[in-house]
Amino acid sequence: MAAEIQPKPLTRKPILLQRVEGSQEVVNMAVIVPKEEGVISVSEDRTVRVWLKRDSGQYWPSIYHAMPSPCSCMSFNPETRRLSIGLDNGTISEFILSEDYNKMTPVKNYQAHQSRVTMVLFVLELEWVLSTGQDKQFAWHCSESGQRLGGYRTSAVASGLQFDVETRHVFIGDHSGQVTILKLEQENCTLVTTFRGHTGGVTALCWDPVQRVLFSGSSDHSVIMWDIGGRKGTAIELQGHNDKVQALSYAQHTRQLISCGGDGGIVVWNMDVERQETPEWLDSDSCQKCDQPFFWNFKQMWDSKKIGLRQHHCRKCGKAVCGKCSSKRSSIPLMGFEFEVRVCDSCHEAITDEERAPTATFHDSKHNIVHVHFDATRGWLLTSGTDKVIKIPPTNPASPDIDLLMKWYEQEGPVMLRCLHPALHSLLLSIVSVFTLLISPLCRPLTSNMYM
Ligand SMILES: [Zn+2]
Ligand SMILES: [Zn+2]
Repeated sequence: MAAEIQPKPLTRKPILLQRVEGSQEVVNMAVIVPKEEGVISVSEDRTVRVWLKRDSGQYWPSIYHAMPSPCSCMSFNPETRRLSIGLDNGTISEFILSEDYNKMTPVKNYQAHQSRVTMVLFVLELEWVLSTGQDKQFAWHCSESGQRLGGYRTSAVASGLQFDVETRHVFIGDHSGQVTILKLEQENCTLVTTFRGHTGGVTALCWDPVQRVLFSGSSDHSVIMWDIGGRKGTAIELQGHNDKVQALSYAQHTRQLISCGGDGGIVVWNMDVERQETPEWLDSDSCQKCDQPFFWNFKQMWDSKKIGLRQHHCRKCGKAVCGKCSSKRSSIPLMGFEFEVRVCDSCHEAITDEERAPTATFHDSKHNIVHVHFDATRGWLLTSGTDKVIKIPPTNPASPDIDLLMKWYEQEGPVMLRCLHPALHSLLLSIVSVFTLLISPLCRPLTSNMYM
């Protein structure tokens, strides 16, 4: 059964709230606190919230902190409990969370950007805070001194940021569809290369440091897997969404990629299968199967007294073919096409049923996901969306099997944390703390007496 943090009498009126607040109040990012049954969320309504699972099985707020500006992103380091929050005003605010996750103490602020921070990443090993902003700047700061170490101007506003600690390469995906790779030194950076494969903006990046593979999600509905470790320039397109891909997460131990779309679709990709690159589309003035001229080929049309045809391309062999010679459709999962695409008749015959077996599973989260977090150690999946809701599957026997987890997610109904209006949330928090204050002194002597 789904549990909700929402006292019944305080029914939400979304329309009224939206009008009063004048903002979307989207939960921009939420993460699972490893080892604790807790969740940290940052939101457009300027709040940082920590929720802890109580003995009752329900999530109750333990921290509610209002920031001076909407919170656009965050980076949480569990070892140091350091929380870096990117704000709409360009500042990155750093806090340390107490061991019991009931308090957050401010550490420092970085004046990192001229406008909204779009991504922030804390790298413990190097004591660096990496960030991108709406000012089209990538910047890195020293987390010890708070000093800015350097910057780089990106071609467009960045919305994906990943870092490889071992080689100090940073990957930046931007709204123009480009992925930029920089090599960072202590105080300078060099451009290594840029990738361009999407027809829409890059919305999310995910780096697998073991296989040395980079995944980029895009508003063009596709995910591209860039094989950097293979050093052959292989890029494989994964087509399994009907809407913008907005969030990615990767489970290293099972080699599964989780991609989430604007329509609520979650696709779990098996990355343990060998996929092939899609072929280049061939150029031809006539159908490469039946030799009928295409409509711009006036000479052949005149010579053969035939009407010119429209050109199509077979997704499997890349040949230029007419509509008649490519009337059939097929999925080609081993080329990343989980949906049916145009293939020429001979390729259609050649594709076996085995080759048509899906290499991904499809799920419906029923909300517009803007962020996903997968905690592989416990098999927890968290999604946050524009509907102000954070969804986590109910407690399960710590299964790292994502497909099993997704079944739970869909069948049982996830636990939903509704981000209430800030005033309601702080009221709820005070009730919890007053209750704890009143109850705990009563409990302690009782329990200690019992064992004396
Ligand atoms: Zn033809
Ligand atoms: Zn073909």
